[in-house]
Amino acid sequence: MSFDYDLFVIGAGSGGVRAARLAAQLGNRVAIAEEYRIGGTCVIRGCVPKKLFVYASQFSEAFEDAAGYGWTLTDPRFDWPTLIRNKDQEIERLSSIYQRNLETAGVEVIRSRATIAGPNRVRLVGEGREVTARIILIATGARPNRHQDLPGHELAITSDEAFHLKRLPKRVIIGGAGYIAVEFAGIFAGLGVETTILYRGKEILSGFDDDVRKALRAEYERKGITIICNDWLTRLERQGEEIIATTLHGKTLRTDLMMLAIGRIPNTEGLGLEALGIELGKRGEIPVDAYSRTSVPSIYAIGDVTDRMALTPVAIREAVAFAETVFNNNPTAVDYENVPTAVFSQPEIGTVGLTEAAAQARFGDVDIYETSFRPMKHTLSGRQERMLMKLVVEPQSGRVVGCHILGPDAGEMAQILGIAVKMGATKADFDATVAVHPTAAEELVTLRTKRPKPALAAE
Ligand code: NDP
Repeated sequence: MSFDYDLFVIGAGSGGVRAARLAAQLGNRVAIAEEYRIGGTCVIRGCVPKKLFVYASQFSEAFEDAAGYGWTLTDPRFDWPTLIRNKDQEIERLSSIYQRNLETAGVEVIRSRATIAGPNRVRLVGEGREVTARIILIATGARPNRHQDLPGHELAITSDEAFHLKRLPKRVIIGGAGYIAVEFAGIFAGLGVETTILYRGKEILSGFDDDVRKALRAEYERKGITIICNDWLTRLERQGEEIIATTLHGKTLRTDLMMLAIGRIPNTEGLGLEALGIELGKRGEIPVDAYSRTSVPSIYAIGDVTDRMALTPVAIREAVAFAETVFNNNPTAVDYENVPTAVFSQPEIGTVGLTEAAAQARFGDVDIYETSFRPMKHTLSGRQERMLMKLVVEPQSGRVVGCHILGPDAGEMAQILGIAVKMGATKADFDATVAVHPTAAEELVTLRTKRPKPALAAE
């Protein structure tokens, strides 16, 4: 049977673009459909613009810190529209590079929404026609959960809109305490916005190491960010220019902007999956096997739409594994162990491997090496911010099974530490490595004292 394409990709985000390019470079006829802009969440409304915002927001503290080093800065001012304009230009530049890379690889780019009409059939909604493909890859990503069951939810924005605010508010409440909430709390606070985090759980950033969570909370509170835990919204109402947020525990909070960052929902609606017998998971995600194949053999899915590990580099890995498996006769499954990650909070978090609690649950007993200190830069700046470093070691093998860092450049360190942990480095390997001086990272190879274990309760 002959098809119009060997591969048809739906969604031109990080995962879809990589898969399309690789398959085309292997000599296949490939098309990719995108209904919005080329680049997907990471480039257009995620990682990239977020990091530009983080840089923008760090200047306020940098100006303060400069005084201790002898600088006098008179009246630095911030202009939000300039940041938005420059950010938009950069995103446009990146999006065109993505488009160009696709075209150079020989991929046909179709600017239309696409749905699936059969195991080998794609409907191009914008163009009113159908095409056929031997393999279909769904890489449609996810969108913010807008909390539609919350009365007044339409008054809240999500990260999607945060990138295009006309002006900076005086006050913001951020609902949720995951990656996006803590990153935007740092951004808003750094830009001078009175910032509150409202979270249903007992400590921000569930899933991260407990010491890092507590330490980040302390740093955020020191910056003046209000953190309300163990409470949640029951209603949002507009009153004149203000939004009034009412909570379960009867609090009434007034704000200019309410932002929800409570997770993301896979983009599977209306794709035509039900008709093909592909049953969605609990969160609307597409279930796939280790090779990203759905229950229909000609249809695959990668990235956030599968809700395995919602990180850009993981989606890219899944794309590479997919292309190897399907188009290079080399079945490849992604290894989800020891994926390093960073949270661009301020200070930043970098982490790889197991948290202390997860390691304890897996191994029963673990050794902890940790240190907390004031980074050298803050001796003269006078800033009270502290840095935290923690190694989790499995005592039988001596392997470092987790590294957790809170402090400047923690994300950069996590990338390098990721190699060591992935290779199975032991604490002795860390100890045998000579320090780079003077750095903060040198602490990682000079940690000598185990944290004392809590005394066992008397029988
Ligand atoms: P997260 O899953 O990180 O956090 C969601 C937060 O919302 C948690 O605090 C969660 O609470 C809370 N929450 C979830 N559902 C509800 C609800 N119904 N009512 C109240 N609170 C709720 O999601 P984000 O939206 O922050 O980010 C989405 C994903 O994007 C992340 O998981 C991450 O994979 C990715 N991302 C990665 C970044 C990076 O690599 N630096 C940056 C930004 C995003 P609880 O803990 O109690 O469940």
